[in-house]
Parts: sequence; structure tokens; C-alpha cells
Amino acid sequence: MLFSQRIFCGRLTPQDVGRQVLLAGWVDAFRDHGGLLFIHLRDLSGILQIVFSPEVSPPEVCQQAAALRAEYCIAVRGEVKNRLPGAENPHIETGAIEVVVTELTVLAESEAPPFAISDKAMVAGAVSTGADHVAEELRLQYRYLDIRRPAMRDNLIARHRIFQCVREFLDARGFFEIETPVLTMSTPEGARDYLVPSRVHPQNFYALPQSPQLFKQLLMIGGIERYFQMARCFRDEDLRPNRQPEFTQLDLEASFIDEEFIYELIEELTVRMFAIGGITLPRPFPRMSHAEAIDTTGSDRPDLRFGLRFVEVTDLFSQTNYSIFRQILQRGGCIKGINLKGQSDQLSKNVLQNEYAKDIAPSFGAKGMTWMRAESGKLESNIVQFFSEAELEGLRQRFEVTDGDVLIMVADPSYAIVTSALGHLRLHLAHRLGLIPANTFHPVWITEFPLFEATEDGGMTSSHHPFTAPDRTDFDPKNSEELLALRSRSYDLVMNGEELGGGSIRINHRDVQRKIFAALGLTEEETREKFGFFLRAFDFGAPPHGGLALGMDRTVSMILQTSSIREVIAFPKNRSAACPLTGAPSRVAREQLAELGLLDLGGQTGLPGAAEKENPIDHLSWVSRIGLSAEERPVMEAILLQAQQLATRVAETAGEAEPIRTVVPAANRMRPGTEEQRSALAETGQLLKSAPAIKGNYFKVASILE
Ligand code: ASP
Repeated sequence: MLFSQRIFCGRLTPQDVGRQVLLAGWVDAFRDHGGLLFIHLRDLSGILQIVFSPEVSPPEVCQQAAALRAEYCIAVRGEVKNRLPGAENPHIETGAIEVVVTELTVLAESEAPPFAISDKAMVAGAVSTGADHVAEELRLQYRYLDIRRPAMRDNLIARHRIFQCVREFLDARGFFEIETPVLTMSTPEGARDYLVPSRVHPQNFYALPQSPQLFKQLLMIGGIERYFQMARCFRDEDLRPNRQPEFTQLDLEASFIDEEFIYELIEELTVRMFAIGGITLPRPFPRMSHAEAIDTTGSDRPDLRFGLRFVEVTDLFSQTNYSIFRQILQRGGCIKGINLKGQSDQLSKNVLQNEYAKDIAPSFGAKGMTWMRAESGKLESNIVQFFSEAELEGLRQRFEVTDGDVLIMVADPSYAIVTSALGHLRLHLAHRLGLIPANTFHPVWITEFPLFEATEDGGMTSSHHPFTAPDRTDFDPKNSEELLALRSRSYDLVMNGEELGGGSIRINHRDVQRKIFAALGLTEEETREKFGFFLRAFDFGAPPHGGLALGMDRTVSMILQTSSIREVIAFPKNRSAACPLTGAPSRVAREQLAELGLLDLGGQTGLPGAAEKENPIDHLSWVSRIGLSAEERPVMEAILLQAQQLATRVAETAGEAEPIRTVVPAANRMRPGTEEQRSALAETGQLLKSAPAIKGNYFKVASILE
């Protein structure tokens, strides 16, 4: 078969009519029309109809074709023809033509696939099947078949295009793609590490990087000035729907820059990436301080596709007689609300009181929720009678109320509870009322984050990570009030309520970095142990630098508007961080744990297997990983003895027969004249019965036989 002559199905057009072509691909669908067989042949480029016609195709080819089934991998030769008028298929790009086959080769047969791969109906107007309804677990288990589906294939190709765009753009801007280690030390990004035990350093572990943060900063100290990497990051976090334990970040860092450099660079790049998905982003990207984001949307990743910004109404109630509000305000609390314009038809008193006030708002942490509906120029609710006319008029003006509006307010002594609960209500109501326009994209830079957050145990944690520069450096690391008031020079890129990425200008002075570690409660000793090598680098003229990382799985998923990030990852883990295809994570054999020094060997010292070496039977059992029972031992001893005698005889007669030696991997090599025999035990599966570890049909044995 001359594959060099092969032509992609999707590339053929009516201009090719009359051409002899060689095609190769998979049987997407077939239809038997009484001796006339139609097949949709699918390859990477698309689908083309091929026809087996008794008038043109030789009888043996027609006969062979009758046995073809879905997903058989085939090659065919034939002539490109126009379809008969009326037989065109507008569902496929090549629907005006077909290839009448004269030669067929079945390259590989296929079992019936566990789900339909074809999603293109063969007959114009017919309903196409598809795998959209197939359980995701099954799709992931047979991911290689799932990837044959055009939708998945297109996602992966689009992902490639977006990655190419990133690489070309950054290369043109003077960035170099440099890899950093995957087996490394812990990098603090707020999650747990995945650990990898070292065999050569028993009881010692590498950590998989949560990000290349430390290395990219070291590259800046190394004078690289502009670095980027499509970096795989690993974070052992609690399961969340759109998270993966390993994910890909566009990680970048630059020296002698400030925030404006990053804003300009990333805006341009983001616009280009989204353009690949046909999306034009509004420019320039607006900026919003963290404080403003919380104050007006209750979120540090605000969804700006719809209004519903918070309205502050605390001051309207400074003299109120409504006791709940009065008590809250006496305790330093606040009141904020949103106006759901013209939604009173959708939000009955019953829904507002019994669903939102009683259930939904408390589930978001609010102790209560106040609602009012505007009807006939008045505000109505179950509690309006407690408010003065001035207060109600104040609300009408502040919320710019017209009839049909619904006001939702949350009051609480805690500002955090008001903003967070109202923020959740804002999103919940926007979804419920269909206020979020489809196909709109609202990027925003969130800036001036607090440098630290208080932890539940009274300590401090970095909002971003400990290498982020504070807005001022003259703080006292022991003064928690002062620490909590510090802002950082960090920024997040947020789009439609999702954080696409973030970064910061970094600390480039050792003393400031030490102060931050001290503020985080690390002792001198802990700092030295964890970050000694890093701090040491700052003794050698660290340039001012900063950078950012963009979550590429999330970005690609948003550009392609897929239902989850798993749709844009070739081999993702499922929702419980497992891989249904390979079975990872999986248990490992005790021997492997022992080899890594991870088994309690009952006080035994010395290398695992050392004791077994003393007795040849035990040694054999150890290296072959075959457990031996007491009854099997004498049998094995006899076999070993026989083998030794045989070896001695061969050695004596050496010269007569050339011994078989090989230094290349060999399988099933037989001495000439002897016959290959398959053990009956292999057929019944008995052969693997006593193996402690099996992979497919094979024994797992030590990688090196001593
Ligand atoms: N390393 C950070 C992260 O993974 C990004 C950065 O600060 O550049 O979130």
C-alpha cells in the first residue's frame, strides 16, 4: 500500500471528480441499499461517502465490503464522482461527491464500539446520533474512541491552535520557552503537594510542582529576562467540578517591568486567543480594585455580563424604627441590595418569602433577606409597614425604582456576610431569571488584593503567594492589623465570573521576603529549610520582576464554550480525580513499596530481597515476583536441579551447538528444530494465577533481573 499517495477525505471537492484516489480511515457509518453499499469514511480531516457498486467494484471487493462494520480501519482506491442529483448530503462538507471503490484493504477490524462515534446522518434530513448522551465515565474509559468523535477531535485541534498562537505571540515579544523540573521541592500555591518517593534516597520525596513559581523567579535572577512555559502543574485539592489534579498553565515572567507591561501583554494575547474561537473581546480590559469588586458584586471574580451591581443603603436607615435593621446598624453592620428590574412577574411573594428569604439566602450565609416589590408606585412586602415614608422614598430613589421592580436586601453586622450572601443571591437570581446573555465576554482586571488573609486559627496566609510584592515595605511583621491592611501588587484576569489567571510583581529584596515569611509565622529555621536556596539567590542582584499564569484548560474551554474543562483535555481525570482509562491511581505491589523503602519491613534492615538472595529458590521467587507455596517449593527445587544439570551438560557439549545469546529485546526465540508450545495453563488463565502483579496478560517482574 502506497500510503504516500493517500489523500485526506475532507480535502476532496467537486474539482477532483474523475481523479483516482487512495483514501484511508475508519468506517463511520454504512448503509446497504440492496447490493449497493454506502459507507461514510472518516479520517482526521472529515467524512466522505464511498460506494461499493456491483457495476464498478469487482465482485470480491463487494463481498469483502459486505463484512465491514463500524470503526473498521480501511483503505480504499477508487474514482471521485459527482453524486446523483438529489443524493447530495448537506450534513457533510464533501456531500456533493463520492468515491466509487475498486480496491479495498481492511487494515484492522474493530469490535462494535461501546458508544456511537458517528454523529453525521448518512441521509440528508435524518436525525444524526451522537455521543452527547453517553455517560462521561464510559467516554473516559474509551477515550481513544471518544477522541475519534469529530467534536472531541476539533476541541483538541483548536487547543493546539490556541497554544500555537501563544507560542508565536510570546516568541515575537522576546519570550523564551524554558522547561523547569517536574520532580522538585514543594512550591507553595495553597494546595497539597503530590509526592514522589525516591528509590535511591529511601524515605525522601520529590514534590510535583504546584506551579513553576520559584524556578521562574530564579530564571529572572539568572538573567533570562523573559520566560514562558506551557507548564503542567499538580495540586492535590479537594474535588471540585471544574478542577483537575494536573492542569496546564501558561506561566510567564519578565524582568524590569511593572504592572502595565503585564496588562498590555496579556490583553493583546487574550484577544488573539479568543479570536481563534471567533470571539471579539471588548477593549481595553477594564480594571477594578478588589475592594470595589467585593463592594459592588460580592466577589473577587465578578461576572460583569449583567448589571445587578450592589446599591449601598445603610445610610438610609440610620434613624430606623425597624428593630432588625436598627440592631444590625448599632453593631456596626451594613445593608446592601440589588434591584431586579421588571422581574416582579417572575418573583411572586411566595417565591421571595418561602424560597429566597427562608431557604436560599440562609444557605448563602445570610441570617435574613428583605424583599420588596414595586407595584402601583408603592413598595410592597411583608414588612413595609415598619418603614417610614422617608425611608421608602429613599429606597425608591436609590434603586431608581419603577413598577415591576423587585428589591432584594441583605443586612448584617458583618460586611463580609452582606457582600458574600448578596453576591451569591445576585448570581443565583441572574441564572434563574435568565439575565446572563449568551455569547458575551466581559474581561476585567482585578487589582490591589489584600496581601494577607487571616486564617481560622488566628494566623496569616498569603492571598496570592508569599513572593508577591506588598504595596509598601515598612510594615511590622508582627502587627496583624497592619498586615491585614496591606495591599499587594497582584492582579487577576477575570472573565464572565471565572478567574482565567493571575500573577504579581514580585519581591526582589531578601529582607522584604524574610519579613513576609516572618509575617506568615515561619521561624528562621523553617524559612531556611524550605526556602534557603531561594533566598540565597537574592544575595546576587535579583532584578525587579513580575509575571502571571493563565489556566489554559479553563481558557480554552471558555473560548470553545464547552460544558467542562474535561472536553478540552485529551486524557483528563474524572470528577473524583481518577482515570477510568488506565485505572490510575492504583495500588502497587508490596515489592514496589519495599523497593521504595515505604514498607515497614518488620525491623529488617538491608535492601529488600537481600535475604532471599541467600537461597536460590527464594531468590528466583523474588526476582520473578512469583509467590511459592509450601507444596510448590519441592517441585520448584526439582525443576531448578534439572535446569542446572541441563546447563552443565550443555556446557560440556559446548562447541557442538551454538548457544543462543541476544542483547536486543527478543520474544519467543526457539532453538532451531524445537517447536513452540503454548502451555495449556496459559489458555485457562491458570498461568497467571500465582502472580502477585499482572499487567494485561503479562506477569509484572522486577525491571532489572539480578
Ligand atoms: N504561580 C502563580 C500561580 O500559579 C502565578 C504567578 O504568580 O505567576 O497562580
